[in-house]
Amino acid sequence: THFGFRSVDSSEKAGLVAGVFHSVASRYDLMNDLMSGGIHRVWKRFTIELSGVRRGHRVLDIAGGTGDLAAKFSRIVGETGEVVLADINSSMLEVGREKLTDKGIVGNMRYVQANAECLPFPDNHFDCLTIAFGLRNVTDKDAALRSMHRVLKPGGRCLVLEFSKPTSDVVSKLYDQYSFSVLPRMGQLVAGDSESYRYLAESIRMHPDQETLKGMMDEAGFVNTSYYNMTGGIVALHRGIKA
Ligand code: SAM
Repeated sequence: THFGFRSVDSSEKAGLVAGVFHSVASRYDLMNDLMSGGIHRVWKRFTIELSGVRRGHRVLDIAGGTGDLAAKFSRIVGETGEVVLADINSSMLEVGREKLTDKGIVGNMRYVQANAECLPFPDNHFDCLTIAFGLRNVTDKDAALRSMHRVLKPGGRCLVLEFSKPTSDVVSKLYDQYSFSVLPRMGQLVAGDSESYRYLAESIRMHPDQETLKGMMDEAGFVNTSYYNMTGGIVALHRGIKA
């Protein structure tokens, strides 16, 4: 299969990621709620809390997809602030734009199709950056982290919300079973697409663990980097500051 359990080279990976998100865009929100049992809302709320974003801030949500974080930030920063929802995938961006516009979230929102590896924004531009369940899909993660560091203002916060490594063997076993047998079946049932969800499970397993990602953020230039495990380490929120 296209998404079988083998390693793929980087150009191949970019194409696979694009295919997955074009095909799931319209059902993405529904699948997110089903697959996480709604818990992704709690993970995202915690991310907002740790962001320190206030009225008037300029925020960039990278790999923002269907705009869950951007919608919350838009309300917080108000008319004097700005929120940029950036995503590499035009289908995801379009679903996000429609959803937020329908909810009346307009005025301080911008939508930009962009690759996290080479962000099209000036240096020292944003008060806060977020990337939620996005870094895992990026081919060159170090380039993405460097690019993120560049566009952040000194003193600004960078938050990375991502699947990580369960902190106990029990959670780890249950989670493996869930992601490699329940998830693809759910994907098949709800979206008629088990391959995309198999890719999802594989990409989660391959993603760097908590300490590795922290090291990568340090390497990209962030200081005071730390992380918070959530749901037994299934998800971690990393935070770094630009000096
Ligand atoms: N942040 C949203 C959320 O938490 O619900 C969406 C997460 S979704 C799992 C991953 C998103 O990453 C997709 O919308 C995909 O198009 C985007 N993406 C993948 N590779 C990217 C890249 N190199 N640069 C920017 N976005 C990327």
